[in-house]
Amino acid sequence: MFCGRHEEPRQIDCKRRKEWTNVHLGCEHASGNSMLFTHGKGAGDIEIWHKRVGHVNVQRLKLMEKQNLVGGLPKFGIEEVMLKVCEACHLVKQIRHPFPVQTTHVSSKPLEMIHSDVWTTKTKSIGGCKYYVSFIDDRTRKLWVYFTEHKGEVFQHFLNFKSMVEKEKGVSIKCLRSDGGGEYFSNEFSEYLKEHGIQRKYSCSYSPQQNGVAERKNMHIAEITRAMLNEKNLPKYFWAKTVATVVYIMKQTPIMIVHGMTLEEKFTGKKPNVSHLIVFGYIAYMHVPNKKRSKLDPKPKKCIFIEYS
Ligand SMILES: [Zn+2]
Repeated sequence: MFCGRHEEPRQIDCKRRKEWTNVHLGCEHASGNSMLFTHGKGAGDIEIWHKRVGHVNVQRLKLMEKQNLVGGLPKFGIEEVMLKVCEACHLVKQIRHPFPVQTTHVSSKPLEMIHSDVWTTKTKSIGGCKYYVSFIDDRTRKLWVYFTEHKGEVFQHFLNFKSMVEKEKGVSIKCLRSDGGGEYFSNEFSEYLKEHGIQRKYSCSYSPQQNGVAERKNMHIAEITRAMLNEKNLPKYFWAKTVATVVYIMKQTPIMIVHGMTLEEKFTGKKPNVSHLIVFGYIAYMHVPNKKRSKLDPKPKKCIFIEYS
């Protein structure tokens, strides 16, 4: 999705790179430097791909290409390095991680355990949401997020999530792990879990570390979201769109706990292709049809990429 700066986002009919026949491609850096949008080799390639693939470090990016973990990456030379400090990465590194990196439970199969947590912000998203609930499969670490206006909607999101993943995997969720938040303990939520034989595990009050997988993941998503918004000077109400983009990219990026595989491949068995990824905040100029503008309006409209549709 592209948005005009400080305006309501609107869907456009050219969702994918291949279909951008009516978009004048500009620069993949909202700061407007001279790094042009390109698929070819050349100075700056590794910096562009670092940003396209969710700010993974250069070593991991080269490993992804070398070990063919995803499709669509160009070949990087050994000598290719980041020539400039990445502002978004610099912002993320300022934040400390209070939770342990290791988890004590590892499931043997997908959906044996789902970690869940609700993330809150004071800023309403452009769609009016102040929360998102995340669901993370313990075995594969694949994650899903649902945006919501009220915490009371968490149960309905769980039902939607459960229906989707169980249909996809052909197995049932065995256990739900969360904190002790009231949104997980409504009568209807508790009755439903009991009725469907889903075990519940939860962390004690004031001990969010016990729900470490979900807490840590939400914290990581929030850090990157904050850094990406700040780097591009975008308004905070784009937070939900940015979270959606961060999660989308995370699914296609290998993490340490699932060695040598992306979250997407670990869960679905299919290797993702990243050739369609573009840099968050990248500027494009869309042609506005004559009938949708007055004679004095400019033909192209300046837009900023914020979300994959
Ligand atoms: Zn970066």
